[in-house]
Amino acid sequence: MTKVNENLTYDRLMEKLKTYLNETDLKQIEEAYQFASLCHEGETRLTGDDYMEHPLNVAYILAEINADGATICAGLLHDVLEDNRVTKEELEEKFGHEITSLVDGVTVINKLSFSGEKEAILANHRKILVGLSEDVRVIIIKLADRLHNMRTLWVIPEKSQKEKAKETLDILVPIASRLGMNSFKSELEDLCLRYMKPDIYFGIVEQLNQTKAERDKSVRDMIQAVSKLLDDAGIKFKIKGRAKSIYSIYKKLDKGKKFSDIYDLLALRVYVDTEHDCYQALGIIHGTFKPMPKRFKDYIAMPKTNMYQSLHTTVFGVDEHIFEIQIRTYEMDQIAEHGIASHWSYKEKGSVKANLQNAMEQKLQFFRSIMELKEQNASDEEFVKTVQNEVLKENVYVFTPNGDVIELPTGSTPIDFAYRVHSNIGDKMVGAIVNGSIVPLDYVLQNNDVVKINTNKNSVGPSKEWMNIAHTSQAKNKIKAYFNRIDKDENLKNGEELLTKELRKRKIAFNDFLNSENVEKLLAEFKYNTLDELMINIGNNKLSVSQVINQILNENTSKEDFVLKKATSGRSVSTAVRDDVIVEGIDKLRVNVASCCKPVPGDNIVGYITKGNGISVHRSICPNISSLEERIIPVHWNEHTQKKYPTTLLIHAMDGKNVLLEIIAKTANTDILIQSINTLNSSDHFLYELNVLVEDKDKLQKFMNDIDQLPHILDVERIVK
Ligand code: MN
Repeated sequence: MTKVNENLTYDRLMEKLKTYLNETDLKQIEEAYQFASLCHEGETRLTGDDYMEHPLNVAYILAEINADGATICAGLLHDVLEDNRVTKEELEEKFGHEITSLVDGVTVINKLSFSGEKEAILANHRKILVGLSEDVRVIIIKLADRLHNMRTLWVIPEKSQKEKAKETLDILVPIASRLGMNSFKSELEDLCLRYMKPDIYFGIVEQLNQTKAERDKSVRDMIQAVSKLLDDAGIKFKIKGRAKSIYSIYKKLDKGKKFSDIYDLLALRVYVDTEHDCYQALGIIHGTFKPMPKRFKDYIAMPKTNMYQSLHTTVFGVDEHIFEIQIRTYEMDQIAEHGIASHWSYKEKGSVKANLQNAMEQKLQFFRSIMELKEQNASDEEFVKTVQNEVLKENVYVFTPNGDVIELPTGSTPIDFAYRVHSNIGDKMVGAIVNGSIVPLDYVLQNNDVVKINTNKNSVGPSKEWMNIAHTSQAKNKIKAYFNRIDKDENLKNGEELLTKELRKRKIAFNDFLNSENVEKLLAEFKYNTLDELMINIGNNKLSVSQVINQILNENTSKEDFVLKKATSGRSVSTAVRDDVIVEGIDKLRVNVASCCKPVPGDNIVGYITKGNGISVHRSICPNISSLEERIIPVHWNEHTQKKYPTTLLIHAMDGKNVLLEIIAKTANTDILIQSINTLNSSDHFLYELNVLVEDKDKLQKFMNDIDQLPHILDVERIVK
């Protein structure tokens, strides 16, 4: 990558772009340049340069990775939306939707501030990472933007330099690395080190300079020797000495190595035409220069998950110097340097965005992990933590029996492997075989392990213990999801039972308690969407029954206690009149007609003072109340009421022929209204549940007698649940 372009001009940019873009693109880029220049007219950077120097450099960095026309335009325009120099609408009118949305994406990311509240930082990181899923070109422009800013970082105060550098190293460098954009990554790393640890950085530079002449000579000698070998074998190649990045040297020193001990400071790279030539060149080099044991890596047969391919070897070279040699094709080199961005160079059909996005989704496993996390509704903190620990950190690479590479965070187990492959494999897993041997499920996977998961379709599913063994949040979430599914039905049943029991204890009918008004209140209070959800949470003990009941009852409790006191003190109190039921001594208290025995006027009734749900009116024969209870108070019907009351009849019949018709006919000359008829299951006779509205007990009794007279009717009774 070309470093600082101090004299970068528009002409030089165009010269570069002409090598790979067509006239239409170039014309639009010209317009973008003119428009941006106009927008930034009179502005200068802190460096004292014309402001356009910055967008021009960003566009040039993008041109060096053969970015498409829209991306170059967006690079030139990337700062024009900031501070509302221009509106989105104006930009869209001039340059269309694609370019505008790229510029807008970069502007959104640039607005995020990385210092300040922890929550804000987390939310911002999340936006960047998720931004990858919208259009990866936004992130590539952002990386180019940051690269140029880092190149000119000297201009800002030291404290800000360190902050910017740290943010770059923490967030942008891992992303560049994961996108396979090594040229960006290694330049950014060196710049970060320079501003974060200037002493170390300049110390390394000095040592490199002191040994430069000597190293250059060794490299020249080795290039000559290797070239001769390859020429003799008739292989077409190019060969280059390769400078190690300062950051990579720093990492080795940081691990305790001495500068003089870093033996791969001498490095060569060989470029050939075909994959076959790579292996042939390797064999020829090893034939003359002895390879160092365990230093050979075949990333051609087993590419890294960021698509990197190359052969790496370390040999004892000329004058007993140790050389690191990389051998790759030109195409592999494009991918190694530019990663995802190398797809710009392939002439593929379809839109540029779709191709890049497609490559990313297919080839970069980390991207899938981000997509999955996004769907799991994790909190910002969880999301960013997981991405940083599991997606952007060092990983182990293991294989399926078919040779597919699976990437997992270090510390992962066969359980993580199984769930990474597929939820079903995880759920049906019964054991694991690694490199041909059975291993326990808490075995920690090592690089290059070949992992086979044994499944059994009759497996009863994962064990809860697996939650403690699994390392990745993906596996843990999937195990949790499994148990949530299984537990759901059971918890629902359990919740209903618990609530029924407690309500019965308090003498409140289930249906009374869960009237629509109360249900609405409960869902709002406990923040659930459905009654089932509420029951499930009672069932799994996340919510206590009394918490739920008290939520409804509390508002009435004190008043009821007062009534209870009065009712049991034996003193006469004034009589209050409610519409249909008169409760002695009570004023403005909720009175409900119980749904278990459904009393109608004329029935002997009693009131029951519930613990907080008002007074519930039952028939005196109702088994749900015991007359010994001190909470029972006398009530009677208001004789002036004209209302109809719901009640339920159970009708037993011998056969079903016309029975229902005859029953309905019997209502003809009465005031009785049939609300609904249900046919209930009964093995030896017919059973109908009849819900009716009736004015009083006499009318009901007459109706029941009428039905009883009908042929085929065995019995008619009122229901008490
Ligand atoms: Mn910028």
